Amino acid sequence: MQLVQETKNLVRLTRFGMVNCFLVREDDGLTLIDTGVAGSAPSIRKAAQSLGAPIRRILLTHAHIDHIGSLDALAGEYPGMEFAVGQRESRLLRKDFSLAAGETGKRLMGFPGAKSQPTRLLNDGDRIGSLQAAFSPGHTPGHFAFLDMRDGSLIAGDAFTTQTGVLAAGTFKLLFPFPALFSWNREVAAESARKLRGLKPERLAVGHGKTVESPLAAIDQAIELAFRQCGKMLN
Ligand SMILES: [Zn+2]
Repeated sequence: MQLVQETKNLVRLTRFGMVNCFLVREDDGLTLIDTGVAGSAPSIRKAAQSLGAPIRRILLTHAHIDHIGSLDALAGEYPGMEFAVGQRESRLLRKDFSLAAGETGKRLMGFPGAKSQPTRLLNDGDRIGSLQAAFSPGHTPGHFAFLDMRDGSLIAGDAFTTQTGVLAAGTFKLLFPFPALFSWNREVAAESARKLRGLKPERLAVGHGKTVESPLAAIDQAIELAFRQCGKMLN
């Protein structure tokens, strides 16, 4: 697993060159955002040790297999460890694929479910330590991104990818088609991309791809392309 210190408080952990999770330093220890694929727990533990702080809480951006793979191996490892996930996304963690009234999207796939029970369900705007939770559905019905209020780092999960330039979830690009293939509703994703742009992030950290500094211009292009692919005008 590759460790990249993105800022004083943010470390990116990358496996296979394309699956990221993040450690965020807080006063009381570390917050782990996403848990990678199965089998990542030992290297995540090692990374936390090398930072000299315990993992106090786990946050999920969404419940896809490459983000919850090591959840059950890590959750509850320390007494009092918190595990938080978006209220809507928690149903996917239980493999409840029913849709709420007004929701439409592609067939939901890539959700293996988990045994771990969340200790907290997140709603838009909730604060978890230094992080503000931003409901950003589209890639999945209950996706969340997290803005570090100290330095403007946006840990955006799969709302964006940067593997082949900054793209909003659901945008199709032949070089790296997976985010589009596994995105549930690209119109909703485009709206969420615009909402996250409104948080004016200083850097964009994502589930797949490198972190992008001063990302607003690239995000603007991504949003324009996302709306164009939906056949909608940006208004
Ligand atoms: Zn992913």
